Amino acid sequence: MTVRAVIFDWGGTLTAWHDVDFHAESLALAQAVVNVDHEVEVSQARLHEANQAIWGRSRDHQQSSTLADLFTEAGLEHDPDLLTAYYEFWEPHTRTDPEVGPLWEGLRAEGIRVGVLSNTIWPRAWHEGFFRRDGVHHLIDGDVYTSEIPWTKPSPHAFRAAMAAVGVDDPATCVYVGDRLFDDVYGARSVGMRAIHIPLSRIPAEQLGHTEGDPDAVVHRLAEIADVVRAWS
Ligand SMILES: [Mg+2]
Repeated sequence: MTVRAVIFDWGGTLTAWHDVDFHAESLALAQAVVNVDHEVEVSQARLHEANQAIWGRSRDHQQSSTLADLFTEAGLEHDPDLLTAYYEFWEPHTRTDPEVGPLWEGLRAEGIRVGVLSNTIWPRAWHEGFFRRDGVHHLIDGDVYTSEIPWTKPSPHAFRAAMAAVGVDDPATCVYVGDRLFDDVYGARSVGMRAIHIPLSRIPAEQLGHTEGDPDAVVHRLAEIADVVRAWS
């Protein structure tokens, strides 16, 4: 079977995994709240809870959310222009792995399309900006951010949206690469793709789903993927 596309998860796959302080994240988010007369700590606590609620819906029901949904869930108004502190909080964790560029160039040179499918509440512009900053945006044939669709991984709908984005209609010709056994490996295999697991992330216990998928291959760095895909082609 020919491999026609390799589709990648983003966080912990194309970027290095970093443990994040979610209370500090909520405090950064709270800087964007407007029209309240309470202390910032009140917004922080509500946003922390809302974050857990929306990611719980993703985990349990594969329902996607946006940043705006997060503030709505918290019962707070926000001004998107005030998200600077939140963006700057995350920015150090968004660096593209240096092996991504050479890997994607090599796959494309062999006629294989490159895709991205990310569970994210961030707007497409943020993700495209990270890829552009790191010089790899032009190597992506199709990308899907779940903030733009109703579903999150591991829903088959999310994986089919990614296939449509790269222009491939047979999942058996797609490989999916990710750091999570539920969202990525179980999800990709459920829809009929092959799955490569990169087991380098410390996934928090509350983010684990109901099933651990069984990967077709395991790699410990992105550069190994080219050989795995070549062996399958
Ligand atoms: Mg990930």
